[in-house]
Amino acid sequence: MKTDKLGINTKLIHAGNFKDQFGSATVPIYQTSTFAFENVDEGAKCFAGESNGYIYTRIGNPTINALEEAVATLENAYRGIAVSSGMAAVTTIYMAMLEKGAHMISTEAVYGPSRGVMENHFSRFGVESTYVNTCNVEEIKNAIKPNTKMLFIETPANPTMDITDLKACAAIAKEHGLILVVDNTFSSPYLQRPLDLGADIVFHSMTKFLNGHADVVAGMILTKDESLYNKLRVMMVNMGCNMDPHQAYLVIRGIKTLGIRIERAQENAMKIAEFLENHPKIEWVKYPGLKSHPQYKLAQEQMDGPGSMICFELKGGLDAGKILQDNVKVALLAVSLGGVETLIQHPASMTHSKVPKEARLKAGITDGLVRYAVGIEDVEDLINDLKEALDKI
Ligand SMILES: *Cc1c(COP(=O)(O)O)cnc(C)c1O
Repeated sequence: MKTDKLGINTKLIHAGNFKDQFGSATVPIYQTSTFAFENVDEGAKCFAGESNGYIYTRIGNPTINALEEAVATLENAYRGIAVSSGMAAVTTIYMAMLEKGAHMISTEAVYGPSRGVMENHFSRFGVESTYVNTCNVEEIKNAIKPNTKMLFIETPANPTMDITDLKACAAIAKEHGLILVVDNTFSSPYLQRPLDLGADIVFHSMTKFLNGHADVVAGMILTKDESLYNKLRVMMVNMGCNMDPHQAYLVIRGIKTLGIRIERAQENAMKIAEFLENHPKIEWVKYPGLKSHPQYKLAQEQMDGPGSMICFELKGGLDAGKILQDNVKVALLAVSLGGVETLIQHPASMTHSKVPKEARLKAGITDGLVRYAVGIEDVEDLINDLKEALDKI
């Protein structure tokens, strides 16, 4: 189907779907590792690249390809590369794009493992990295060195909700010949399409919004550029971080409701952010939908909505964070985000409890910082849940 003129909710339902010989309304699960050829000639053509028949599931599979086509349509990409997790997307991109001696600049508050795998492992192969506050374009410019090859941005960033100007980053990348990579996990293509703003490569942890039901770990890499696509595809196939067909089926199913899930979660998030902003035990709230967010205007320009991730600072610091987490009853005390269920997480006492305080504060993770990933429950129940737990502090 030609999808370029369709609205995003129609694309969510129909992009990537194909009819099998029975007219199945949904994409079938081709749960097979290998594909038999009709004869020698056909096999030879597949291996020579003269036919696009399927060979082996690590290389390609109809269910996985349907998902790749669907997300590529949503991001206005040339094609997508489905991978086993968001981190498989990160490592595939690093492996394919960075040579020995190369340097990467990234967001200070970037997703922990994206930084960890670079600093602890790619450093062993002579790749260097620098982390700056990418909200300040001058900090990016000042960090550029002769060997800088990649600008790796996460916006909104995790868990600070800081927003980086993607158009400004694309201009810097172009001027200095850098590859601009954007982690679009927090927005999903429903709210932000970085390739249209000048990014070279976009990726997702589809574990979050795209799948949306907390039952799959998955990733996707996308680009508008055919030669970048080929380089990334070969790296994924050779490293073997392909997706499984059943995993692809579940994400295809999840994607169909991305629009209504995000609209509902975002509506809930706005009301919760306003409730928190007026609560006496809260120091501040950071949500891109609030006028008080430092980059409120930029969020309005580059995103189609503020999303459903909120972070806020409790006046009572570390102890207050623990009490809040132990007393919420509707929100689940868990990492991850973008699912139908609301999740709460206090980094200082959980994910970052072993990170030295100084390093934690440098990444913007203060003692009382709470990350709240809003789901699609009834908002009154979520607000009451927070109210009752806050009363215990
Ligand atoms: C979860 C997440 C990742 C990693 O994805 P996995 O699917 O868990 O491997 C990367 N970036 C962001 C922003 C994330 O939230």
